[in-house]
Amino acid sequence: MGKEYQLLINGLWKESESGETFDVVNPANMDVVARCAKAGQEETVQALEAAQKAFETWRFTPARERSNLMHKAAAIFRQRIDTIARLLTLEHGKPLQDSFKELAFSADVIDYYAEEARRLLGSHFEGDAGPTHSFVFQQPLGVVAAITPWNFPVDLLSWKVGPGLAVGCTFVVKPPSQAPLAAIEFLRCFEDACFPPGVINIVTGSGSVVGAEMVTHPISRKIAFTGSTQTGLWIAEQAAKQLKHVSLELGGSAPFVVCKDADLDLAVPQALRRSFSHTGQICISVNRIFVHEDLADEFIRRFAESASKLRVANGLKEPDADMGPMIDQNGLNTVLDHLQDAIANGAEVVTGGKPPAGEEYEHGYFFLPTVLTKVTRDMKVMREETFGPIAPISTFRTIDEAVEMANDTPYGLAAYVFTNDLDTAMYMAERIEAGGIGVNVNDITDIRGPFGGMKMSGVGRELGKVGLDSYLETKHVRVLRRKPRE
Ligand code: NAD
Repeated sequence: MGKEYQLLINGLWKESESGETFDVVNPANMDVVARCAKAGQEETVQALEAAQKAFETWRFTPARERSNLMHKAAAIFRQRIDTIARLLTLEHGKPLQDSFKELAFSADVIDYYAEEARRLLGSHFEGDAGPTHSFVFQQPLGVVAAITPWNFPVDLLSWKVGPGLAVGCTFVVKPPSQAPLAAIEFLRCFEDACFPPGVINIVTGSGSVVGAEMVTHPISRKIAFTGSTQTGLWIAEQAAKQLKHVSLELGGSAPFVVCKDADLDLAVPQALRRSFSHTGQICISVNRIFVHEDLADEFIRRFAESASKLRVANGLKEPDADMGPMIDQNGLNTVLDHLQDAIANGAEVVTGGKPPAGEEYEHGYFFLPTVLTKVTRDMKVMREETFGPIAPISTFRTIDEAVEMANDTPYGLAAYVFTNDLDTAMYMAERIEAGGIGVNVNDITDIRGPFGGMKMSGVGRELGKVGLDSYLETKHVRVLRRKPRE
């Protein structure tokens, strides 16, 4: 077994008060990778208090100093990227090449917001209805509770601490229990860059104890959450009782629409990657593919053939594999449940539908890329978030029908439209209910663009300028203009 990981409270690494720990397991072979301290309510409150104390100085630390410290942390992180990428693959299962991509983007996010820290300006105007000066201050919100999921445990954390630290907020972070290690190593870089004690605190432990305390305790002023819609709804209810700020990045059910005039040489590989990379465990993974009926046979043939050739493997042994294992038995159970439901209701498995055969797969949560046809809207695979490697394909006739099918979901995070016609692209982009629409591209993530969901996929946006603003409180200071007394 690897290292033991501790809590970070007020600049000190420590065991939990109870001495309790939990194991982190490699989903490719069930080996225990490391052991983590399991915090309780008491340590969570200590972490929140430390963050509150640190806020009083961090908020007034000059922007250039905050910026320099963040750049330093990003540089340290880049130096350690090889080791941390291996750790991420060990705890999560994603192929090493995907771990590198995640970590490189996280480092960029920290550098990007380090620069933004120095560009934070308020404003001034003269009174409209009287002799006054008006100043608009933009001030940090305070202590942020950052709660993240296991699928991108470092990236999704960088999207929170990047903007928050830049504007002067302090943090209590709860990494996901399935994959907390790379996130802890990422945050260790900030400690090693000499961030003041208490600016970042880490409490590993269960969501229902540690996470719940972070959400309900009056010290936290913002809950920055990425995870399931179910947990997000609970957090929204709790936060509402104290009118806390929230950003909720929740589940998705992304449609991939292949129009009559689409370029299949482009659409097929793009649909493939977005359906199966990370074993389908991305919030913006393709969940439902809608192909114009004229192209359906050709699309299905090419897509299924390519899917059957994808390489599923232990991502450490084969760093450039296409897919690793699923995260755990729960994830695998959902895939099996959705698959059985679809087959029982008439769906046809074109390829996949089972775990890969072979000794190397016997102890991990592996499942083959699976393509389904003859799917109907009432199947679980079309209605719920499968979060696994299943691509259900159905057909449409008209553009309006495609829009209606794409919107037939409670979710609204990402959507993809493949067409060679600008009018079709714009018509669909306006009508499809999703926070991000990719036209002839299969990724809606750009460091400068707002990322987030509509409907049950969440509230708020991360990344870009809007991601920075969401850590700020706006204050109007109105001052009488008058001549000083001599
Ligand atoms: P989850 O909701 O089970 O857990 C997310 C985090 O919340 C974990 O750290 C967990 O410990 C914590 N948590 C659990 N109960 C809590 C509570 N009562 N109070 C506070 N915290 C609590 O989600 P998951 O299974 O880790 O992640 C998968 C989900 O995340 C999927 O639905 C996926 O779509 C979603 N996701 C969304 C985005 C996005 O940007 N919209 C990105 C990635 C993942």
